[in-house]
Amino acid sequence: MINVQGISKRYGSIKALNDLDFSINERSCFGLVGPNGAGKSTFMKILVGVIDRFDGDIQVFNQSVKKDQLAVKRCIGYVPQDICLEETLTANDNLTYFGRLYGLSGEHLRNRIRVVLEQIGLSERAHDKISKFSGGMKRRLNIGCAILHEPSVIVLDEPTVGIDPQSRHSIFSLISELKELGSTIIYSSHYMEEVEQICDSVGFIDKGKLVEHGTMKQVLDKHRNAAIFVAKDGMVTEELTAYGDVMQTDAGFFINCADPLSTMGIMIEHFRENGITPERLELSQTRLEDIFFQLTGLRLRDNG
Ligand code: ADP
Repeated sequence: MINVQGISKRYGSIKALNDLDFSINERSCFGLVGPNGAGKSTFMKILVGVIDRFDGDIQVFNQSVKKDQLAVKRCIGYVPQDICLEETLTANDNLTYFGRLYGLSGEHLRNRIRVVLEQIGLSERAHDKISKFSGGMKRRLNIGCAILHEPSVIVLDEPTVGIDPQSRHSIFSLISELKELGSTIIYSSHYMEEVEQICDSVGFIDKGKLVEHGTMKQVLDKHRNAAIFVAKDGMVTEELTAYGDVMQTDAGFFINCADPLSTMGIMIEHFRENGITPERLELSQTRLEDIFFQLTGLRLRDNG
């Protein structure tokens, strides 16, 4: 269990983190979600020991990031947002370098490099200089460097920013595999679909404050608010206000009401009697993206 206790961090007059209190279960995949500048990287850097001046404490399996720095660092693998590799060296040499930093050597290091290259799908490219690698391959290698020492906690700061779909898919598979093998994963992203797909618990962070957290199911259930979606050329809001609160978007109309299923039945009856055939009429379930919007008024669009 990772216990975050009253973490606050200031950069001069900027309050980057404001009294964070939450816990992350062992062997879970926790998604930390928020817009740029929300405080995700700052939190991760405190957890992994890159930032050591802050208020509060984090217990990582009963060891304090403040008092037991070295022990905590040993059990964590940190994948920073910026790729940190030596371009003039091969994948194998980069892994060797990082492995030695973690105190690995000899046959054990060679074995770990073999396993990790397999896990990140780069075995065939082990002896190529990474200056020839795509952005996605470099990101995978960056993850590889952080897992050589078999850490029980893996911290990934926005690992899929600006990469091709194939590498993104391969990073998802790798995260699932690492979780299966028993690691606890902490993953920051502003791609909601991604977090909803691979994380089993989530925390929303906005302006340094944790605005919601829990298991994915708890958060979705708590804020679940099914709406009716209807689209028809020429339809206007006034035709729908009798059914609930109407919100018009480019694609059509969302109607929020207490009992969407029964209301949809009434709408269907009305449409049938009046010869109206909508292009689309469906129940729309709340997504993580909608909940974040409800709580913060912010949209985190997937632009990548
Ligand atoms: P995120 O990772 O969610 O984008 P950050 O943790 O990087 O957010 O930043 C949180 C806030 O702290 C932002 O307002 C950012 O400008 C500020 N900040 C981050 N690092 C520094 C720094 N080294 N010096 C001053 N301000 C910083």
